Amino acid sequence: MGSVGAKEVPVLLSPEGLRIDGRHLEELRSIRIVAGALHGADGSAFVEWGANKVMAAVYGPREVHPRHLQQNNKAIVQCRYNMAAFSVDERKRPGLDRRSQEISKVISEAFESVIFAEEFPRTSIDIYIEVLQANAGTRCAGVVAASVALADAGIPMVDLLPAVAVGKVGGAIALDLKKEEDNYGEADLPMALVPQSGRLVLLQMEGHMTREELAKALDLGVTGCRAIYEKMKQALRDRYASGGGAA
Ligand code: ADP
Repeated sequence: MGSVGAKEVPVLLSPEGLRIDGRHLEELRSIRIVAGALHGADGSAFVEWGANKVMAAVYGPREVHPRHLQQNNKAIVQCRYNMAAFSVDERKRPGLDRRSQEISKVISEAFESVIFAEEFPRTSIDIYIEVLQANAGTRCAGVVAASVALADAGIPMVDLLPAVAVGKVGGAIALDLKKEEDNYGEADLPMALVPQSGRLVLLQMEGHMTREELAKALDLGVTGCRAIYEKMKQALRDRYASGGGAA
């Protein structure tokens, strides 16, 4: 443990360049994606990503609630991201706090930009993301789960949306931050992109990076997203190769 001011902080990068969990700077945590994990939803997916566990369910296109939100020329895309009260070590107050509202909004906007919403006027496409266990990067795990769930529901989209957070830890740019790196690192930059075009549809940043570091982080994030994209496609292939039944 080193110390910064009065606060004890863990050593995030060893002299050999290894991270707190032994990963290299450009290494992802392990990821497992199960498409079609729920019976009741039109589409669903479960993602285990490092110590994150995230479930996504998609309903729609269906009738809009509340009705005044209905749009005559396209479907509306509504996402609700929620962290279970038991998902973090410190007990979290249940319900929609400002952080959850912000994440729900940025994820809704990301999917609005890839779903062919004009094919389903006057309807709603509802995405529910439930974080059951959180260890940083849950908004990205939520995007990945929701994206596979949307594909599972047969919603037409430009493409799947892989997502990952890159950041700066111990002075170095690192892929896919875990909790200690998110808490004590210098920067955290979640992103989601359309793999074919490279268009970013979600990009946020907390902390500080130089212009050069930002460019490096974006490159690393794109590489990470492309690796995650392959796992998302494989999860959908597995789902339909196994006959398409929900678990
Ligand atoms: P993300 O999960 O997308 O990285 P944040 O950067 O806001 O989003 O959060 C980082 C991590 O901090 C979360 O994944 C979770 O482990 C933890 N965390 C977030 N909100 C709370 C909270 N209200 N109580 C306890 N831990 C939290």
